[in-house]
Amino acid sequence: MANSASPYRASRNSASASPDPIPAPAPVEAVRLSGVTKTFAGRQVLSPIDLAIFEGQKVVLLGPSGCGKTTTLRLIAGLERPDPGGRVLIGGRDVTMAPPERREIGMMFQSYALFPNMTVSENVAYGLKIRKTPKDVRQKRVDELLAMTRLDGFAKADVSKLSGGQRQRVALARALATEPKVLLLDEPLGALDAALRESVREELDELLTALAITTVIVTHDQAEAMSLGDVIVVMREGAIEQIGRPAEIYHEPASPFVAGLVGGSNNISATLSEGLLHLPGGASIPMSMIRRPGAGSATDPPATSANISVFFRPDKPRLAQAGPGRLGGKVISSRFMGGTTRLVVGLGDDARIKLELRGVGDFRPGDEVGLELPPEALILFEDA
Ligand code: ATP
Repeated sequence: MANSASPYRASRNSASASPDPIPAPAPVEAVRLSGVTKTFAGRQVLSPIDLAIFEGQKVVLLGPSGCGKTTTLRLIAGLERPDPGGRVLIGGRDVTMAPPERREIGMMFQSYALFPNMTVSENVAYGLKIRKTPKDVRQKRVDELLAMTRLDGFAKADVSKLSGGQRQRVALARALATEPKVLLLDEPLGALDAALRESVREELDELLTALAITTVIVTHDQAEAMSLGDVIVVMREGAIEQIGRPAEIYHEPASPFVAGLVGGSNNISATLSEGLLHLPGGASIPMSMIRRPGAGSATDPPATSANISVFFRPDKPRLAQAGPGRLGGKVISSRFMGGTTRLVVGLGDDARIKLELRGVGDFRPGDEVGLELPPEALILFEDA
């Protein structure tokens, strides 16, 4: 299990194909949690967390409800204190005992927590007013922020009359007003309905990328994590399960938990014997054909028999004539999605898998289908 971050660069930067003649500057730590645990009323909800976040990164804390994401964010914000011994550093400074206003952070809550009795510009100016920033400086900053968040023209508006997306932008402008070093966003899209989420997510991504501000985002939504994060920290039961770029988390999950959390994976049980992986539905694949590099996957398969959990993405299987080496199954349901058709297929007695096939397919429940599973698409974990 990875429990500390390596200095990942933003994936956009590292995707460059040609070698960079000027060496990249060493990444600078923006946030560090060191040996941080948290106990509420005698119950420890965070195992020791060690995490480094580098300047300019967008880091997403991803995991199911109750795994400790918000507690971790609140510890960075100074809204919670770690148990004795744990340390929180921001910009290299130990802020473990410092209150939120001394941490150079900006925070946006899921509910936005806007002041309902104030206008948009009063909401945005709030933090500056508390700090007794001179009025002219305050006004200039508020105007800048409203322009940046496309709210110019709404300065005098009543926040309760705004749309969900606009309210989110007010909350973001307010969090940015004091020019924080680190922006902390708790479920930033959580209050929006599904129809708005995607467009607001794109806007948020563009804004955060343009600002290049270090940002820590909490979400339980893997698609949101993939699209917003340069780095994803997968959490489970108060501990860090894996840290990696979105593509690493997707293609090289370190555990069955991560494989199941990300990418809508199929998970079927298989057995290994005499070098063959036996899948439900009759197919056998020689282990010698299975190549899955990466931590946690069965790169060194057991020589003898074993029970194996096999993960693969719904878009990986291909339709094929039934025959040796192919999976045979029966269509349970079929849904046309536009560019793709989603099928649920039953294999053998109780295994069922989801498929996402390109284009239009005319399938009915009960149809027999043959499927080929590309060996390179399989991610294997030996059952404990
Ligand atoms: P969610 O997505 O549901 O918000 P989460 O991953 O953010 O979940 P946390 O809110 O950090 O999880 O909670 C982690 C654990 O700590 C949970 O079991 C929660 O009940 C507990 N917890 C959080 N805050 C407190 C508190 N103030 N007092 C007692 N227990 C708490």
